[in-house]
Amino acid sequence: MCPPDRIAVHAEDTAVAGHAPSPELVADLVAANHILFDQGVVDAFGHISVRHDKRPDRFLLARNMAPGNVTAADIVEFDLDGNPVNAGGRKVYLERFIHSEIFRVRPDVMSVVHSHSHNIVPLSVVKGVKLRAIFHMAGFIGQAAPVFEIREAAGNGTDLLISDNALGAALAAKFVDVDIALMRGHGSTVVANSVPLAVYRAVYAELNARYQLQASSLGEVEYLTPEEGLACTNRVEGQVQRPWDLWKAESAKRRAS
Ligand code: MN
Repeated sequence: MCPPDRIAVHAEDTAVAGHAPSPELVADLVAANHILFDQGVVDAFGHISVRHDKRPDRFLLARNMAPGNVTAADIVEFDLDGNPVNAGGRKVYLERFIHSEIFRVRPDVMSVVHSHSHNIVPLSVVKGVKLRAIFHMAGFIGQAAPVFEIREAAGNGTDLLISDNALGAALAAKFVDVDIALMRGHGSTVVANSVPLAVYRAVYAELNARYQLQASSLGEVEYLTPEEGLACTNRVEGQVQRPWDLWKAESAKRRAS
């Protein structure tokens, strides 16, 4: 029997079937892995996925490795049960069910980022305190990011990881009308309708968390109103290309030498 992170092939991959994902999409996913590492959102752990552009019931995610080193050859295709279809025996991420179950319940979501970024974790564990939009780059966070409590789904003795479909579905249930959820004692997951926007949100959610920790240590914080959050979210959708182009060029430069 295969161990859980070395699942056997279940279905034909789309490249074999003549419906390979576009090379541009794969290149963006590779760049996003590098950017998230360069921007301090992921370290050796954490991952980003994108929905397949020709098969909405498939998604792409790197094999089990550090995001900063991902190449196009490391990208694996998965079905919405989290089964790799072309891993060829390569080890895959244990927490791929975060991605599969969110793609299943949110057809509008094209990209998912999961990370343990440093300033988010404290905001996942303090009773009565929630990650909340504090500045204009992170309006999408809203008034109180929900926190996923794994004990409600799986009891008091888990390793906190989303390691099967049922846990993935329990987490995905948090994403009914929000694009970010914290995971108690673990990290966060962010979703968006494109890879650049998912990266943008992950970077600025981490920055928002840092500002929130800093500001709340000084005194009472003035947060964005719901209306300000919405206005800022709508504005960002038109300007996500600028940081994406900058971060992509910088990450390529860093890896060229
Ligand atoms: Mn994790």
